[in-house]
Amino acid sequence: MAKDKTQRAPFEIAGASVAPGERLKTDIPISLLANHTGMTLGVEVIHGREPGPVLFVSGAVHGDEIIGVEIIRRLAQSRQLKKLAGTVLLIPIVNAYGFIANSRYLPDRRDLNRCFPGSATGSLAAQLAHKFMTEIVARADCGIDLHSGAVHRSNLPQIRAQIANKKVKALASAFGAPIVLNANLRDGSLRATAREEDCDMLLYEAGEALRFDERAVRIGVKGVFQVMRHLNMLGPLKREKPEPKPVFSQSSHWLRAPAGGIVRCFKRNGDKVREGEKLAIVSDPFGENEQRVLAKRDGVVVGRLNLPVVNRGDALFHVAEVFDPDKAGAGIEKLGLDIVDDPLFDDSGVI
Ligand SMILES: [Zn+2]
Repeated sequence: MAKDKTQRAPFEIAGASVAPGERLKTDIPISLLANHTGMTLGVEVIHGREPGPVLFVSGAVHGDEIIGVEIIRRLAQSRQLKKLAGTVLLIPIVNAYGFIANSRYLPDRRDLNRCFPGSATGSLAAQLAHKFMTEIVARADCGIDLHSGAVHRSNLPQIRAQIANKKVKALASAFGAPIVLNANLRDGSLRATAREEDCDMLLYEAGEALRFDERAVRIGVKGVFQVMRHLNMLGPLKREKPEPKPVFSQSSHWLRAPAGGIVRCFKRNGDKVREGEKLAIVSDPFGENEQRVLAKRDGVVVGRLNLPVVNRGDALFHVAEVFDPDKAGAGIEKLGLDIVDDPLFDDSGVI
């Protein structure tokens, strides 16, 4: 008699059942909009033959932060998942309405990432948050939520996580983004609410809203697989040269425009900065009044404004404070630069 390979229990989600070794795409109903169009949450369940943890990967919680959608598309296409132990839940577009409207928000103008845990009888955002909690987070051991900078702002690929939690810190390190920022849990956020459900979460931030960035996408794809490997959900890669370690930062701050006008920025994401160093100049349109923007403290640029037109107080640079900016700057360059030529990826950028 053939060996029974389907000992593992099926995965149950939203009334559907997924057998070990199977994949299933399902649309979880959320609500009906004013025109009676159904609002759903699309999920793909990949239920491995072998037992292991349940990991969810979500994108477009903020509807205009589309980089996560591309990262998840490539994950879904990867051959790696054929040998999966455990279960992966892929949710490429959490906020479907923000996604088609190129907007961060939901139609009720709520920021979904301030609406968790939500409620079954609340606003549209609250209903979506509630379904996400009950159908996804409650079934998962770990999660990776994929974000980008806002419109006209780009972020150096980075993990935000509560690094005081040792398990979360190990996951953050395994992801292998150039920098890990300690980020406290904010009320109403997915990360804070998942913590209460005992679900360990990372937030990946990379690139700019409404844009793709090949380097940021690849670091994201590779990072998710490295977390899966850390959780023993996948076997080792063929190539096993030691990966450089990410730089950890305990705190960060924003530098803002001292006046309205036209801004010339002299630093890119990943550049190191020294206290007192000139990072940008804001000028009036005739060039008569110029104001310098100086670094407040030593650190590394992890986010910056791309639009050269500013009002006074607009955020220009996000600077992470690091132990040794010289070393951190060199390490960040090494971690990110060669990924576009990395033979780990095939021609379409899939591992
Ligand atoms: Zn976001």
